[in-house]
Amino acid sequence: MEKLKLYNTLSRKKEEFKPIKGKTVGYYTCGPTVYDYAHIGNLRTYIFEDVLKRVLVYNDYKVKHIENITDVGHLVSDADDGEDKMMRALKREGLKPDAKSLLKLAQQYAKAFKEDIKKLNISEPDKWTKATDHVKEMIKLIKQNEKNGYTYETKDGLYFDTSKLKDYGKLAGLSKVSLKAGSRVSMGDKKNPTDFVLWIKAVGENKDHVMVWDSPWGRGFPGWHIECSAMSMKYLGEHFDIHCGGIDHIPVHHTNEIAQNEGATKKKSVNFWCHGEFLVMDKKRMGKSAGNFITLQTLIDKGYNPLAYRYLNLQTHYRQKLSFSWEAVEAAQNALEKLWATVAEYDKPKVGCAEYEEVFFKAVNDDLNIPKALGIVWDLVKDKELPGHAKMQSFLKFDKILGLGLDKVKKEKIPESIIKLAKDREKARADKAWDKADKLRQQVETKGYIIEDTKTGFEIKKR
Ligand code: AMP
Ligand code: ZN
Repeated sequence: MEKLKLYNTLSRKKEEFKPIKGKTVGYYTCGPTVYDYAHIGNLRTYIFEDVLKRVLVYNDYKVKHIENITDVGHLVSDADDGEDKMMRALKREGLKPDAKSLLKLAQQYAKAFKEDIKKLNISEPDKWTKATDHVKEMIKLIKQNEKNGYTYETKDGLYFDTSKLKDYGKLAGLSKVSLKAGSRVSMGDKKNPTDFVLWIKAVGENKDHVMVWDSPWGRGFPGWHIECSAMSMKYLGEHFDIHCGGIDHIPVHHTNEIAQNEGATKKKSVNFWCHGEFLVMDKKRMGKSAGNFITLQTLIDKGYNPLAYRYLNLQTHYRQKLSFSWEAVEAAQNALEKLWATVAEYDKPKVGCAEYEEVFFKAVNDDLNIPKALGIVWDLVKDKELPGHAKMQSFLKFDKILGLGLDKVKKEKIPESIIKLAKDREKARADKAWDKADKLRQQVETKGYIIEDTKTGFEIKKR
């Protein structure tokens, strides 16, 4: 079997993947900030992470998957305007600005997120970790950084001194580390532009922050990056295998996670950093702040199956931009329905098509070349030599990676009454009784089926 290779952002090249310990892979994916519905751009990242997890499982690894839920207010927003996303959401929904409302809101959107990923056939992590349940661990980690001399205190918080860490910014390449990294919090007293906050004191403009805890640096709340550092290391150990997220996390969030992890432990923390490219719409990154976002529910309301969106994602490599358009989802839905209909005709799975499987998994193990793997799926569909039962066997294997529900497709039994109506219509057409034929077609359609005329007669399909 071809060895699994993954592109590692840290080394900027494809590397052969080997777990740190035996066959178990420690896998951390940055989860949602639950202040609103996820948009389909966010969901692109979770689809990529799901495919990667499936590929690891296919390679016989046991994956221990941890994903956080950011349910604590943060002075971080993708608009970079310093407004707390959660606080903004409370205002938007007309809720009281208190911790209880905030937690309720977080619960509601976390539930919606879990429903979205289920519809996309994304498997849940082994453990969801909520930020608010781990403040103790965050404080402990900050203290370790403090003890090792990486922090300094100002009147509004405790900061990480990025000038103290020799290779700060190695994930992004130093020159690429945006100066904005430091501008996310109002902080007049910062020493270096890239310094970032570990603990925010409930003073000044943060005086009325609704979610606060006691800490050695006064009452306040944690910075955003510390939560992922604390939770990933708590459940996966100080050195673990893979950490994922969208590419926006490279210059700030993940760069700062590395700083905190290594500041505390003084050793390498993560072997592979894997990042998914953006979903773009109208040439801009899909995002809440730009206002150009679509939710999964909008797709559903327009008649698209969530798996058609998954299919659309599989057509583009995860490290390339994916441009969203309605035409593209339409085409993806048509292709998926065609695939389902084809698979439905195959007999019970038997044997499998070894040559196709070999090239399919070779593509998959080459840094998740799923677009190529999808091409192989269609080559197999078109293969005239191989029997349906063999194709079916291979498709079931392929679907362990693709997650397109091919295992659930069932041969539809058309009711006798519908077949009779279709036959009557055929006869009416032969008799040139067009009105009667039309009426019979309508009857079939109102019962949820369609008749397709082919060169060799008619075919009935479920609408
Ligand atoms: P957030 O809830 O903002 O932390 O985002 C959740 C995940 O979605 C993160 O891994 C982001 O990197 C990712 N993300 C945000 N916008 C996009 C986008 N337009 N395309 C793909 N991934 C995105
Ligand atoms: Zn994170």
